[in-house]
Amino acid sequence: MATPADLLQPIVAGTPPAQRRAIAKAITLLESTRADHRAQGDELLTALLPHTGNSLRLGISGVPGVGKSTFIESLGVHLIERGHRVAVLAIDPSSTVSGGSILGDKTRMERLSTLERAYIRPSPSSGTLGGVAEKTREAMLVCEAAGYDVVLIETVGVGQSETAVSGMSDMFVLLQLPNAGDDLQAIKKGVMELADLVVINKADIDPAAATRARAQIQSALRLFGFHGNPERSAHAPGVAHGHGDVHEPAPTRWQPRVLQISGLKGEGLDAFWHAVTEFKAMQTANGRLAERRRQQSLAWMWERIDAGLKTAFRQHAGVRDALPATTQAVADGQLPPSTAARRLLDMAGLGPRT
Ligand code: GDP
Repeated sequence: MATPADLLQPIVAGTPPAQRRAIAKAITLLESTRADHRAQGDELLTALLPHTGNSLRLGISGVPGVGKSTFIESLGVHLIERGHRVAVLAIDPSSTVSGGSILGDKTRMERLSTLERAYIRPSPSSGTLGGVAEKTREAMLVCEAAGYDVVLIETVGVGQSETAVSGMSDMFVLLQLPNAGDDLQAIKKGVMELADLVVINKADIDPAAATRARAQIQSALRLFGFHGNPERSAHAPGVAHGHGDVHEPAPTRWQPRVLQISGLKGEGLDAFWHAVTEFKAMQTANGRLAERRRQQSLAWMWERIDAGLKTAFRQHAGVRDALPATTQAVADGQLPPSTAARRLLDMAGLGPRT
């Protein structure tokens, strides 16, 4: 396995073939579960950190079949033609359950994958969702240090993984089909509230249906603006505030939008990218982009501390010995759950300090 010192230079200053190999090696190192690899991975990440943060991190989600890979491929090629370097990462929630794959083993994004200015990495193949998200986040930092200025992080619409991707992206994009049933599903699951941009894909099939879906989702987003997400309660677009106050100040905060595209035909990509750059400019100017990243970093640290504590707790020899009898006693109603928890935490040295 390559050492951090071998990898740093080729990643931050290398040119394609060598750089690409170094990125792949770095990500493999970071995905390793061996303790010595983890220590080297940490050393590498720390050295890479000053070179990170310069990309736009775009989360992209939607149900299987909505057209994520088609859209990402079209968008990726479109951006590369305009001088960008594009990294595509993924969080496949099925891999965290079964080691399987919803996002697909099929060869995806064939055109994009042949381009030198694209880097495509499939989802880490197993682990808890938190673990997979951590690996993807670290891979994102490696790609940023290598100068990829657009990072696309894809996931399938199954709730938790969408929250994970939204938690590591600057902007979260939800792909929808032009049919009302799906729209309502996303609204119900609360996923719509995460979206900074909703994209109705496959608008080429039935433009009228896409237009209806757009209006419907736009009004749902306005509703969230007032009653759902307090972040977005100010200056919702197109809604009058009672007494004809037409001189409302221009919104300084991003308001979620709905666009129509055809990923297959590459239609609407310019409008899409225009919205993304507008989002970035606005959220940079008002400080929200930097704030979002700061909060994401802290949330990431605490999530990993929680996960680490849980692992350490379960690995503690005394806890392991006491666990079967204790869980039995709790299940049988002979020991209060809170008392059992306190005893076990004490045993692991994690009880309250007096
Ligand atoms: P994913 O599962 O979300 O990654 O979806 P895919 O990108 O694999 O697309 C699923 C199917 O929808 C494929 O047969 C695509 O060719 C088709 N598809 C994707 N985008 C569009 C589009 O904009 N218009 C049309 N007509 N078909 C599309």
